[in-house]
Amino acid sequence: PDNTVPDEYYTNHLINSSLHIASRGRANATFVILARNSDLENTVRSIRRIEDRFNTRHHYPFVLLNDEPFTEEFKRRVSAVVSGQIMYGQVPREHWEQPAWIDEDLATKGRDALVADNVIYGGSVSYRNMCRFNSGFFFKHPLMEQFRWYWRIEPDVHFHCDINFDPFLFMQDRNKVYGWTITMYEFDKTIPSLWGHVRDFIKLHPEHIAKDNALGFMTHDNGERYNLCHFWSNFEIADMNFWRGKAYQDFFEYLDSKGGFYYERWGDAPVHSIAAGLFAHRDQLHFFEEIGYEHNPYTHCPKDPDMWRKNRCGCEPSRSFDYDGYSCMRQWDEFVGN
Ligand code: GDP
Ligand code: MN
Repeated sequence: PDNTVPDEYYTNHLINSSLHIASRGRANATFVILARNSDLENTVRSIRRIEDRFNTRHHYPFVLLNDEPFTEEFKRRVSAVVSGQIMYGQVPREHWEQPAWIDEDLATKGRDALVADNVIYGGSVSYRNMCRFNSGFFFKHPLMEQFRWYWRIEPDVHFHCDINFDPFLFMQDRNKVYGWTITMYEFDKTIPSLWGHVRDFIKLHPEHIAKDNALGFMTHDNGERYNLCHFWSNFEIADMNFWRGKAYQDFFEYLDSKGGFYYERWGDAPVHSIAAGLFAHRDQLHFFEEIGYEHNPYTHCPKDPDMWRKNRCGCEPSRSFDYDGYSCMRQWDEFVGN
């Protein structure tokens, strides 16, 4: 193979992309990071990485959310590394804490059972609060309400390639709803009753189910059983109008009323993914192959050599998670017909 790429290739690409940016402006979009004050150093690292690979050319804003007030120190350090506007918000208690109607005895039993089973975060209430917040509330925060699109980032994630296009405008132009980079199996012990409730919801609300949905990616027996495939939600680029719409609002309320965020340990990843699979057209789900991304312990690295070189990727394609045994990329490829 010819490994030499002429210099003009890069130069032209950069010129084209900055012209493109200048002429189009930005989407109505923001980055969003949920973090604790103790996540300061890792939050700075994540922001520097996405700034260097993308946002220094775009200046999209950041919304930082926390269940507690951010310290002055946190704000001083994080504000120093962004190229655009930054906003700090506190999550209202009613969007975060375990609701009063949850049966605490049942919740305790549920946590103890997962601890006994060595399930990660099995005994944590704050982790459950976080999962429920990310499932049902982040897009209702006053700082988020002004935006339509968001890109979720977590402390200490990596962006391994230049992102020489605007993923928000891409989503908007192509009528996409949900963008992802990594897909994998969920731990079945965290969601034993979830799929049953999903099936009940489908019977209760057939009007919400999209024609040509992506359910075929998540079940291979017409909805009988869930294959546990979901999108890893620590990376998400998505349309908040989808979460704010009637279908998802009904879905979240229904699931929340079953208490599984606390009695079990439902993650926002399967909840978001199943919703995207049910209520969106299959073409509205988008795999961002070109966005090299890492959240410990997994990395998605573009395997196409041209893409990898052109975008100056710093990751090793042969170690990409995509074709790991635990990845659901095979199911995705099969589903979309690759
Ligand atoms: P994991 O990726 O599933 O291992 O979970 P993380 O610990 O990374 O948490 C997911 C996201 O929620 C990260 O952005 C964390 O900073 C954030 N997070 C988790 N727990 C809390 C919490 O109790 N308070 C706040 N403010 N953020 C949290
Ligand atoms: Mn994380």
